[in-house]
Amino acid sequence: MKLSKNYKFWFCTGSQDLYGDECLRNVAEHSRIIVDELNKSGVLPFEVVLKPTLITNELIRKTFNEANIDEDCAGVIVWCHTFSPAKSWILGLQEYRKPLLHLHTQFNEEIPYDTIDMDFMNENQSAHGDREWGHMVTRMGIERKVVVGHWTSQAVREKIASWMRTAIGIVESSHVRVMRVADNMRNVAVTEGDKVEAQLKFGWEVDAYPVNEIAEAVGAVSESDTNALVDEYYDKYEILLEGRDADEFKRHVAVQAQIEIGFERFLEEKNYQAIVTHFGDLGALKQLPGLAIQRLMEKGYGFGAEGDWKVAAMVRIMKLMSAGMKDAKGTSMLEDYTYNLVPGKEGILQAHMLEICPTIAEGPISIKCQPLSMGDREDPARLVFTSKEGPGIATSLIDLGDRFRLIINSVDCKKVEKAMPKLPVATAFWTPQPDFATGCEAWILAGGAHHTAFSYDVTAEQMGDWAAAMGIEAVYIDNNTNIRDFKKDLMLGNVVFGK
Ligand code: MN
Repeated sequence: MKLSKNYKFWFCTGSQDLYGDECLRNVAEHSRIIVDELNKSGVLPFEVVLKPTLITNELIRKTFNEANIDEDCAGVIVWCHTFSPAKSWILGLQEYRKPLLHLHTQFNEEIPYDTIDMDFMNENQSAHGDREWGHMVTRMGIERKVVVGHWTSQAVREKIASWMRTAIGIVESSHVRVMRVADNMRNVAVTEGDKVEAQLKFGWEVDAYPVNEIAEAVGAVSESDTNALVDEYYDKYEILLEGRDADEFKRHVAVQAQIEIGFERFLEEKNYQAIVTHFGDLGALKQLPGLAIQRLMEKGYGFGAEGDWKVAAMVRIMKLMSAGMKDAKGTSMLEDYTYNLVPGKEGILQAHMLEICPTIAEGPISIKCQPLSMGDREDPARLVFTSKEGPGIATSLIDLGDRFRLIINSVDCKKVEKAMPKLPVATAFWTPQPDFATGCEAWILAGGAHHTAFSYDVTAEQMGDWAAAMGIEAVYIDNNTNIRDFKKDLMLGNVVFGK
């Protein structure tokens, strides 16, 4: 998927005029070189734009307000080359609303032992200039990322690159609109939530539409458009008839093709980037959207099943954060379904009735057509595959009544030991960190859901930083987790975030 905007990040250097024009010329030149080299490195996913050196209260305030207004600006990177008295930054920072990165670096990598004098020291004093600036940002309680190290270091560049993707998740969050074409599944608690609070915290618009309005849009899709998409499916995927009549099978697939086109047109027309459905509320739709939803997720739409709008929005956010990533391995809604409890081989089989995003697939993707054990519609066509190995994160955003909590579990994805020929759905399989028992215990203590927004590409650190920017609680379950300390994390969350 591609982002709709050509995002850029501004590079603002703090300084002062205490050391004369020559020093300021050097400061500007050093910043120009750093920005050029960062852009040339090929590590950063977005361009860095050099801004004039910030010295006065007026210019600082003006620059931050311009950053607010510029739709393509996704964040500001600040570095204090010399010393920039931090009171000059108060008004600008107070009015600034976008992501902030403090790059704590220095132009020269090594102390120039043979030539260093006081002029050099005064010009290259970010070691204390950045502390002055950091003090003010901390005093003001502003959320920001701090990256420390020389600007030529690969690790520093990768940290900036990672933060840029977090920043996209932050600025794009308030542009996420979720279409509900069904209410939440009856009696289910964890998929519920306060939609007003979600708009206040995350900027999400979550709106309901009668399912038959979107079913009409599906019905309006022409046979020729539908057949063209069916041809595309038949070119791209393996067809597993499994004894079914080929023509009847194709008619079932065509229903999903018509749903894919109809849904996408309806979402585009009404400007929604995420959708929820519910198997128990399908109106005039002939099948539960399966293959259709899988394809929409692949294109970058968020999705949540059984009315789960929080998961739909989170899948969308995580797809935006990983958009355009080289060698991306995929992001999807998943559901904890069935355990393997054999000692040494413990893990959770991830699946859903149908709706798993094919971006996480490894190996061939097939179309199957099978009855659904729930609901009252015709057998839906769906894409079936297994998923990649390697680390990933499963996230669950829950509403605790007085606040949202984001639970972030680092998981290790594996292949299942044997094929599961009778299972007609896409799957993944993982062991939660730090181990199956501790991971599951912590997840349940934290109140985590059975639906998750999962990604191989977005990191736990990025999601934790995203949560911090949203002003909500985040808890991590990973190789550092032990239950005694985790319970303290939850108690601390109650103190800080509870009402
Ligand atoms: Mn479900």
